[in-house]
Amino acid sequence: MCTDHQWINSAIQKLEADFQRSADTHLIKLDLPSLEGIDIYLKDESTHPTGSLKHRLARSLFLYAICNGWVGPKTPIIESSSGSTAVSEAYFARLLGLPFIAVMPKSTARKKIEQIEFYGGQAHLVERSDQIYAESHRLAKELNGHYMDQFTYAERATDWRGNNNIANSIFNQMKMEQHPIPTWVVMSPGTGGTSATIGRFIRYQQHNTKLCVVDPEQSVFHRYYQTRDLSVTHDCGSKIEGIGRPRVEPSFIPGVVDEMRTIPDAASVATVHWLEGILGRKAGASTGTNLFGALQLASEMKQRGETGSIVTLLCDSGERYLDTYYDETWVKENIGDLLPYLAQLETLQASGVLA
Ligand SMILES: *Cc1c(COP(=O)(O)O)cnc(C)c1O
Repeated sequence: MCTDHQWINSAIQKLEADFQRSADTHLIKLDLPSLEGIDIYLKDESTHPTGSLKHRLARSLFLYAICNGWVGPKTPIIESSSGSTAVSEAYFARLLGLPFIAVMPKSTARKKIEQIEFYGGQAHLVERSDQIYAESHRLAKELNGHYMDQFTYAERATDWRGNNNIANSIFNQMKMEQHPIPTWVVMSPGTGGTSATIGRFIRYQQHNTKLCVVDPEQSVFHRYYQTRDLSVTHDCGSKIEGIGRPRVEPSFIPGVVDEMRTIPDAASVATVHWLEGILGRKAGASTGTNLFGALQLASEMKQRGETGSIVTLLCDSGERYLDTYYDETWVKENIGDLLPYLAQLETLQASGVLA
């Protein structure tokens, strides 16, 4: 508990000043002539100072925790994370002069651990991804710290009605496009927070847009969406970093999701390799999950003779994953054969249909 208003004021001031110095992220229009009449956009979240969409979440979580009196001038911050959130939280913890410990599975990309340490945070590694929650609770108790708990608070720490949230930004940036109101927004769930924000914003603003949530194979979200059974778990960690969870996270709000699809891991990885040829840049694998889902929808629209726009997210840069998704041997051993999906993507580029 913190009731030190002077510290609270100065902490909020630092977070707001940091925001004031920052720029919004770009909305990139993909050049895919074969899809004529169907425009695909990527909201490029890799350009945040800490490299992913988790920059938004980390900022919101700190503001929420401080305004709730959960964090004071010396409170150690603990977080359970598959990496990206911890990188962003380490940045904000340093801005506020707070100690930061990330509890992560040992499979987490080396680059992310290095970045957490770069921002003065500590990495506390556990064997399996389903152990991060209990270990975070334990550490927070032992150190008299605050467990940030992104998986619970992501959906409520963000102002879903507007206030510069990601959905607000997307719809503003779309204003002068051929199809300014997207037919679909596509997003993959990690916490589920971004999907919740986008889905609620669409409904609140009365937009005629549907939200498609795309889940990787090793995840419970799509199983939960079909059955609404909260107790469903999965003991094999997702191979797509940042998304797919072994348990149903409290921040995943199924009621705002119009459609859910499961995307094979090989399709996700193939899609980021294919995207590099179009964009000249590497993206993380969750961007592949998002884009493959968007391309499926586009291909179906094309076959029905529909036009419109589809927006999805470029969640983080591929430079973080040079030794995994961009390493041929690693991909062969962990993901499998990309060729069938690369062939489908080439067909799409030639004909506008994914087949
Ligand atoms: C967290 C994350 C996501 C999913 O976002 P949520 O808002 O947590 O559902 C997707 N991709 C990457 C790289 C992430 O770090």
